Amino acid sequence: MEHSQGAPRAPAANVDTDQLAHEMTERFRQVLSTRRMNDLTLRSGQSRPSSPAPRDFGTPQPPLLQNAPPSYSSLRNIPLIPQPPSDARSIRFKNMLTSLSNMPLRWENPGLLDEALTAVPLEQIYNEAEEESQILQAEAESLGSGKKAAWGYQDCVIRALMRWFKRSFFSWVNNPACTRCFSPTIGIGMAAPLPDEQARGANQVELYKCSVEHCGTYERYPRYNDAFVLLQTRRGRCGEWANCFTMLCRALGTRVRWVWNAEDHVWTEVYSAHRKRWVHVDVCEEAWDKPRLYTEGWGKKLSYCIAFSVDGAMDVTRRYIRDPAKYSLERNRAPEAVLLHILDEIRAARRNNMEKKEKFTLEGEDMREDRELRSYVISSIAQQVSKLDAEDIANGRQSSPRPDPDTQKALEGRTSGNAQWIRSRGEGGRGTPNQQDPHNQHPR
Ligand SMILES: [Zn+2]
Repeated sequence: MEHSQGAPRAPAANVDTDQLAHEMTERFRQVLSTRRMNDLTLRSGQSRPSSPAPRDFGTPQPPLLQNAPPSYSSLRNIPLIPQPPSDARSIRFKNMLTSLSNMPLRWENPGLLDEALTAVPLEQIYNEAEEESQILQAEAESLGSGKKAAWGYQDCVIRALMRWFKRSFFSWVNNPACTRCFSPTIGIGMAAPLPDEQARGANQVELYKCSVEHCGTYERYPRYNDAFVLLQTRRGRCGEWANCFTMLCRALGTRVRWVWNAEDHVWTEVYSAHRKRWVHVDVCEEAWDKPRLYTEGWGKKLSYCIAFSVDGAMDVTRRYIRDPAKYSLERNRAPEAVLLHILDEIRAARRNNMEKKEKFTLEGEDMREDRELRSYVISSIAQQVSKLDAEDIANGRQSSPRPDPDTQKALEGRTSGNAQWIRSRGEGGRGTPNQQDPHNQHPR
């Protein structure tokens, strides 16, 4: 029961995140001010080679760029004014994001969604959901009056769908096995799609050859990206998994997002009406609401995580990187102000034909989410601050961080894909050296 573990979740719907953010910012400001004073005192006294370089001396940058607490780009330069892309690189990024943003639109076909549900054991899923939501309800009641269940019924439906999808429906493909002798195969490159493969939406086909010499059978692995075709093929890597699963969440009546990550991964977010927020779901990993999985769990560094839905687009990177000093990669595909503009444009296109009232509701939701994402940055800073030893602050030293119990549950390596594939991607989790060989990465 993950919800009963560890510290209370932040930010629950009943926590006033604004107030919290305000208090933390205040505390942080005070600590920083103390540090600044100490730095200045030290500098005027003796020059110590071990103290942080006096980078903020005479520049308008806040001193966040030094050791701890961590820096985060969104804390500087706020508010940013969106700017249209003008250089070639930014325009390329815009075209790519615009094209990615079409993914969720492809699921919006009521006839196909109805048909998709025939592949799902609905009774089993609804029964499991009913049972789990009753348990959560009982747990909440045992904690006293006014306590809300950790998850609502519809959340439990998606959780049950995820378990079924991972355990009984879809299978993972590295190299497809030989269909004649079932031996492993060896990748030999790409092939042009056959007419029937193309008709079913595969633009790329990977070619494999049986490793047993006297067999030598060729295996084709078409990369289908039509969720409804994937209901038939029922296999793939994260791309196929996330595509088919997110479509099924949609079919079950949940609002969904398809999250693209620049470091070669995709996953799902579903909107929890019960918690009034978007929830991370990675069906390949059977992971529910574990946004720190990729960084603290797999040891991966991330640059961009962008969520697309039928009615919006959002930069959700801050949900997935809670310790930017350790896990953020440089975001260099476009200036931040340009990214804002691109996402504004995609959002506007999605909401073009909406009623004013609906637009207004969605804008309110965006603002709430922005506050949520900012609160992660603030609590990350507050945590760094709380790890600082008062004496170290006074002496201008960086203290060694204490272990954070809340990160423990994220510290699991990747479970989908075989060991070699995981190692080649540097996603083995804690203790595995993170060596990403760009030539040895499978496409999504
Ligand atoms: Zn064979």
